[in-house]
Amino acid sequence: MVAHGFSTRLGGVSSGVFHANNMHDKKGDSKENVTENRQRFLTALDLDPEGLFIVEQVHGIDILDVDELVPGQTVELEYDGLVTTRPGFTVGVTTADCLPVLLAARNGRAVAALHAGWRGLAAGILTRGIEAVCSRASCDPGDLWAAVGPGIASCCFEIGHEVVETFLANGFPEPFFHASTSGRPHGDLTGMAAWNLTRDGVVQVRQLGGCTFCESEKYYSFRRDGWPNGLLLSVIGIRGTRQESTR
Ligand SMILES: [Zn+2]
Repeated sequence: MVAHGFSTRLGGVSSGVFHANNMHDKKGDSKENVTENRQRFLTALDLDPEGLFIVEQVHGIDILDVDELVPGQTVELEYDGLVTTRPGFTVGVTTADCLPVLLAARNGRAVAALHAGWRGLAAGILTRGIEAVCSRASCDPGDLWAAVGPGIASCCFEIGHEVVETFLANGFPEPFFHASTSGRPHGDLTGMAAWNLTRDGVVQVRQLGGCTFCESEKYYSFRRDGWPNGLLLSVIGIRGTRQESTR
């Protein structure tokens, strides 16, 4: 059985700028606090905290298959998506404005967590993620569930014209951009993610909504607060007991 969740700032033990549910220690919070926060979050989802995989994200489109890896708190490899087919394994991405997107095959055989900042989204990380899950679960995109988590919304996502041009050059429709009163473009990352998923054949697309920048009580936002700052964690996993790899 597949379980997934998107963390918020609420319910953790971190203090100061990391208040209170920070999910990564790379910006200065203590390992102990982060470990406790992750344990509470994963346990609440009935997922084993010891089976969590996270990678160093680099705004690319490469996806790591973690099936042959040994679970640990952090994998020191650079990818922007993770996929697994193994019970007891949970894959996660950390964000603070970028979009987390979670995918699951309806047959429960494969899941993926994707980090979609504007660069990765424009370059096709969601399409790569869909291919990764479908190939492992032997299913079609129409047999997937997708959940688009909290990110910076179009109210606050002011961008340069070159960002708009990059999206348009990659086939994203123009209506996802509008000009603010200052004349600068704003982009709708969530809308584009949902559009990308639907275009690729995913039927079941849920959007959490909200805005990480606007909702300071609930979410961390790099644009609003800079670094150091906390990070949100979005996870998806296949419940069950981990077995030794049989491949
Ligand atoms: Zn906003």
